Amino acid sequence: MKPTGPSRDVSTTAKRTVLISGASISGPALAYWLHRSGCAVTVVEKAGALRDGGYPIDIRGAAIEVVRRMGILPQLRDAHIDSRRCTFLNADGSEVASVSPSAVAGGVGGQDLEVRRGDLAAVLYGKVRDDVEFLFNDSIDTLDQSGQGVDVTFHSGQRRTFDLVVGADGMHSQTRESLFGPEEQFHRYLGYCFAIFTMPNTFGLSHELVLWNAPGKAAALYAVGDNDELHAFLNFHQPEPPFDALRNPDAQRDLVAAVFAGAGWEVPGMVGAMRDADDLFFDTAGQIRMPHWSSGRVALVGDAAYAPSFLTGQGSSLALAGAYMLAGALATNRDHTAAFAAYERDVREFVAMNQALVDNGAATLFPTTARALEQRNAMLRGLVTMPSATARPAHSALTLPAFAPMP
Ligand SMILES: Cc1cc2nc3c(=O)[nH]c(=O)nc-3n(C[C@H](O)[C@H](O)[C@H](O)COP(=O)(O)OP(=O)(O)OC[C@H]3O[C@@H](n4cnc5c(N)ncnc54)[C@H](O)[C@@H]3O)c2cc1C
Repeated sequence: MKPTGPSRDVSTTAKRTVLISGASISGPALAYWLHRSGCAVTVVEKAGALRDGGYPIDIRGAAIEVVRRMGILPQLRDAHIDSRRCTFLNADGSEVASVSPSAVAGGVGGQDLEVRRGDLAAVLYGKVRDDVEFLFNDSIDTLDQSGQGVDVTFHSGQRRTFDLVVGADGMHSQTRESLFGPEEQFHRYLGYCFAIFTMPNTFGLSHELVLWNAPGKAAALYAVGDNDELHAFLNFHQPEPPFDALRNPDAQRDLVAAVFAGAGWEVPGMVGAMRDADDLFFDTAGQIRMPHWSSGRVALVGDAAYAPSFLTGQGSSLALAGAYMLAGALATNRDHTAAFAAYERDVREFVAMNQALVDNGAATLFPTTARALEQRNAMLRGLVTMPSATARPAHSALTLPAFAPMP
């Protein structure tokens, strides 16, 4: 007899079919674990190919254990960016302090990983590409849960039905919007906007980060190796989110140029490079906070459900750990409703602790007033003499159960 209702999910004969929207970090990580537990997985990505680029990201605490269990820790160790120094500059370009990167980030030197975002995405993709169906250059147009599964219409016109759908489509998730409504309800704006792009390394920088600050403005140059690869970062305080600029790259460039007009150090050259950059990534520093991460047969993972913002440095770690926990919950619960409830129950506290890092000083790298900047600088001068490389409890505040698919 063909099973009906919730129990149809895990039929003893048919594989559970899962569609994941988004092929960046959380999507391929989830695909890996779902495939391991016997699901037939499809990933749809709106870009034409795997997206490269992005500022280097951190993998810490519980997420290190996730990548170890995936068998990709050695590859990621090879890709690790071993930054040696983080130098802070005053508005006139003079040096405030030069400290160890882990002293600033609160990580554990020797254990935590910092890799190019594109390298992490490529390693994850390489791990699943032969086992999982990828549909690039496409996206979900409509989701209909009125039948026995989720009927999906793709932008390409294709129609298919899946047992479950997961939105791994980032902070501005379309999946979330179609299920729960506009982003504004869930977006906690943190008062900053940022632009990231690459530019030629004409500064002789090598394995180091240089961060310039003025009140409410920061400019960073990050040389991740000793070659030409240089990541530029311009961050600024903006009381209200510039919603119009979010959809318009020309408006983004104009806004950044206006904010940094007249700034010292290498900032004018950076603004010029931003104008020419073909890889500009502009966004607000914000978090996604939702009362629930699923509705019916559709769930959310990673930034789509609980973006913590770059200020925490925990976006990719939450994405990796969240993907593991969601797949684990589905592997051990026959009923998807129970699985999604278990996922939320077991991950919510971890997410809350990491999102709370922004309220506990994570933004002190970007003070908005002259007084706060001077306090920050005094703290940094203290770090030079008392380097502290302790882990933040939030990074490891998740118990990872063994991954045990149902027999
Ligand atoms: C190109 C790129 C550069 C980034 N650079 C930085 C950075 O410099 N600093 C930083 O802090 N964070 C950056 N991020 C975000 C960072 O990767 C995430 O915070 C974190 O890794 C969580 O990953 P995620 O997979 O949940 O979401 P994301 O990494 O945001 O990935 C979402 C994926 O979904 C795809 N997608 C979006 N909408 C749809 C749709 N409708 N249909 C199908 N696919 C869709 C996107 O193309 C993307 O591949 C970047 C993300 C991308 C995609």
